[in-house]
Amino acid sequence: MLNIALFGPPGCGKGTQSKMLVEKYGLTYISTGDLLRKEIAANTELGIKAKIIIDKGGLVGDDLVVKLIEKHVENNHAQGILFDGFPRTHVQCYILDGILADMKSSLTVMINLEVPENILMQRMLERSKISGRSDDNETVIKMRFKEYQEKTLPVVEFYQRQNKVHTINGVGTVEEIAQRIQNVIESI
Ligand code: ADP
Repeated sequence: MLNIALFGPPGCGKGTQSKMLVEKYGLTYISTGDLLRKEIAANTELGIKAKIIIDKGGLVGDDLVVKLIEKHVENNHAQGILFDGFPRTHVQCYILDGILADMKSSLTVMINLEVPENILMQRMLERSKISGRSDDNETVIKMRFKEYQEKTLPVVEFYQRQNKVHTINGVGTVEEIAQRIQNVIESI
């Protein structure tokens, strides 16, 4: 299995690059952000709880993320899985490692997309015009950056200890960044 975790701050282009990776390598796509938005749209108990946090720019609690994953992740992904926006906390690293161990597998690589905050802010404000996402506004974006710095960055250290992190410059055209990611995957 080729199991990839696509990592990086809000707005770094994880969603865009995921589409390319899923098509090119035939992976199953798991985006906790998309799954949470589905739960919100379906007005489920989990969705109602998550919306309150997402609208403030916070991270949804690990307990809810576990429920989300249990609900949506099946145990048959022959080619591999692409995780987008997960793991996002130290606890979630253990959850991920557990899920993959159950499949007699492990994380192949974590791709860390680096983009400066001023560019991220511009991208997300631009995206807000079409995304309709309630969390794409300046105040909430600043809170998402803060959560990223405090809770999500330690995830990189966790996988650095396993020598699994490849950091990539996330500034450039979509095609350029896709090529950088492919170069990493082909080199593994
Ligand atoms: P982005 O990374 O661009 O902010 P996402 O769609 O990945 O967008 O996530 C949107 C929001 O959903 C996050 O700000 C957070 O509140 C919540 N979320 C998504 N994935 C997780 C996760 N693994 N753990 C906790 N919260 C999450």
